Amino acid sequence: MEQEKQNPLTPLSEVGEFGLIEKIRANVVNTAPQTIFGIGDDAAVLDSKGQKTLISTDCLVEGIHFDLSYVPMKHLGYKAVVVNLSDIFAMNAKPAQILVTLAASSRYTLEAIDELYEGIFAACQAYGVDLVGGDTSSIPKGLVLSITVLGYADEASVVYRNGARLNDIICVSGDLGGAYAGLQLLEREKRIFMENSAVQPDLTGFDYILERQLKPEARKDVVDLFARLGIKPTAMIDVSDGLASEINHICKESACGARIFDERIPVDPQSVILLEEMKVNPTLAALNGGEDYELLFTISPTDYEKIKAEKGISFIGFITPPEFGVKLETRDGIQHNLEAKGWNAFGKE
Ligand code: ADP
Ligand code: MG
Repeated sequence: MEQEKQNPLTPLSEVGEFGLIEKIRANVVNTAPQTIFGIGDDAAVLDSKGQKTLISTDCLVEGIHFDLSYVPMKHLGYKAVVVNLSDIFAMNAKPAQILVTLAASSRYTLEAIDELYEGIFAACQAYGVDLVGGDTSSIPKGLVLSITVLGYADEASVVYRNGARLNDIICVSGDLGGAYAGLQLLEREKRIFMENSAVQPDLTGFDYILERQLKPEARKDVVDLFARLGIKPTAMIDVSDGLASEINHICKESACGARIFDERIPVDPQSVILLEEMKVNPTLAALNGGEDYELLFTISPTDYEKIKAEKGISFIGFITPPEFGVKLETRDGIQHNLEAKGWNAFGKE
């Protein structure tokens, strides 16, 4: 409270829309070769340099996609950018520009929005992406953050969901279920705190899963790895809703089936510890948890030699005829149908 008196917070109404935009603009340094003109006119001007342009957008709504009681504004900004970049990497392309649309209620202060943009700029810098525009509005309640990303790739290198072929090997980067484990931990500690505010959250020993939830990274390094190894995946998708949902997307688009082996699904030991404490089966967290932002991809068996020694890539199954369906095989050889239980935007399964 004392500090607030010395450093009074600034209501957004005091700076106004144009003041806020000017403040954002002052922090922008464009570096992507395709950015001709960014913030400050009616539209940004870009040059795709003869490559294909890829575009994607994601909208985050307070109370639906994030809970500001345990997500700092800076992390929210960072994550909002990263989840968009992940969609471009999932096409085997490189993101270069973002546009940020922000609608905030008058409850938000300039300082809070500054923090949000600190996170946005940190992500832009980490991935070499320019903020070239957006829109600013107010809303009666809460915060809505919508980000659009533009990326580029040579036509021949773009990877779609629909290219998986019979006997292709199904691969996934990193590990799964960690973001879900982190969320379970944060929600548990929030519950305990709500019941008794004298009890401080105990998050020790769980840095990795907290980072998976609060500060995820997009797998630019995996896209770089493909280039280095001379591999073009036959199909690819990023894991935003959980493995079950994503493999079903690939199979539906590619008109094929899949056989996935339970013991091959990568789950970090820290995730396993927390999930077991919470009585959640780690495989189920990997299948249905989501928000891991790893890359799930298929490769032709002829490319396996090139990539098999890579640490951090797991080979979890292979593509089957469509009649086989999409199945998870447990250690004892029992096959379960893998249904897409992805997170549903309208709250019903
Ligand atoms: P218009 O009236 O044409 O919509 P604005 O005043 O909304 O223009 O925007 C002016 C400039 O500032 C544009 O380049 C726009 O893309 C950019 N801009 C507006 N809001 C944001 C924001 N929240 N983040 C980044 N750029 C923004
Ligand atoms: Mg506008």
